Amino acid sequence: MPKTRVFDERPPTLSIVIPCFNETGALHQTHARLAATLRGMNGYTCEQIYVDDGSSDGTWELLVSLARRDPTVRAIRFSRNFGHQAACLAGLREAVGDAVVVIDADLQDPPELIPELAARWREGWSVVSARRRSRDGETAFKKATAYAYYRLLNALSDHPTAVDTGDFRLMDRQVVDQLVRIRDKDLYLRGAVSWFGFTETSIEYDRAPRVAGESKYTLRRMLALSRRGLLSGSIAPLRLSTSLGAAALAGGLTTAVVRRDARLLVRPAEFGVQALAIGILGEYLHTVFRQVQDRPGYVIEERFDRAASPLPIVERVTL
Ligand code: UDP
Ligand code: MG
Repeated sequence: MPKTRVFDERPPTLSIVIPCFNETGALHQTHARLAATLRGMNGYTCEQIYVDDGSSDGTWELLVSLARRDPTVRAIRFSRNFGHQAACLAGLREAVGDAVVVIDADLQDPPELIPELAARWREGWSVVSARRRSRDGETAFKKATAYAYYRLLNALSDHPTAVDTGDFRLMDRQVVDQLVRIRDKDLYLRGAVSWFGFTETSIEYDRAPRVAGESKYTLRRMLALSRRGLLSGSIAPLRLSTSLGAAALAGGLTTAVVRRDARLLVRPAEFGVQALAIGILGEYLHTVFRQVQDRPGYVIEERFDRAASPLPIVERVTL
């Protein structure tokens, strides 16, 4: 069981990161519900960080007006649309909280769950994901592909990710510091978080329909995200060639022995040797890929020499 987090000297700080892409229809309501929830969280100091991911519908102007009225709001804007994962990462880099929550701008993730996420964090968990029990207002196609994708990813990944969870989760400062250090340009946040191996738990919720606007995750974007998740979290696709080659050779050899005819080995051997060679190349490619991803070689979760400090050690990272 994880160790309870105690804040004696000062209230814990909580940052909320909200990636936004053309969300003018939703933002007033999102801000109102977020602000009301955070006001109700006595004993916490909170900040909201909105990241405008290159919107073209006046999202930025709206964010600026919110920030003028509400001193707990900060906003950053991308020069163009870099995608949801990049927006989340930029928000995480800005956040100063002891814990950071990433939440969608369209109220599909209810802000009212944040106190519960924070409570689990205070119990000692480093990552608290919100798991979708149901998904209202989404097409049967999206539900089915999401269901299949999370399970396929989990079966293939070297480090299992929580199923049915998007990026709506709370992360402890330690986790965020590790995330923002990764220099992988195609970072798949959920995959990296589970790769770290910090203690992780989840709470369940019913996913609401969007309050306004349309999903920005088109089929193409969804495919791109799935590809990113599979390629960065699993070597299985690369190993497929090795397995096929080995299976072809073994099958050919068995047939040749059983039928006592060496000629039966020729075709499987031709294919098998080629597939094996590609597989071996794949292994080298994977080794290079891991280096290029530039993930840290290990993750230190605790230091005894720093335990004397009453404040968490927050090392700002600039890349
Ligand atoms: N989003 C973003 N950049 C993008 C696409 C989406 O910042 O290129 C934001 C969007 O504003 C929302 C969140 O990411 O806050 C999730 O996007 P969306 O609701 O469109 O995806 P879905 O919930 O349909 O998967
Ligand atoms: Mg949405």
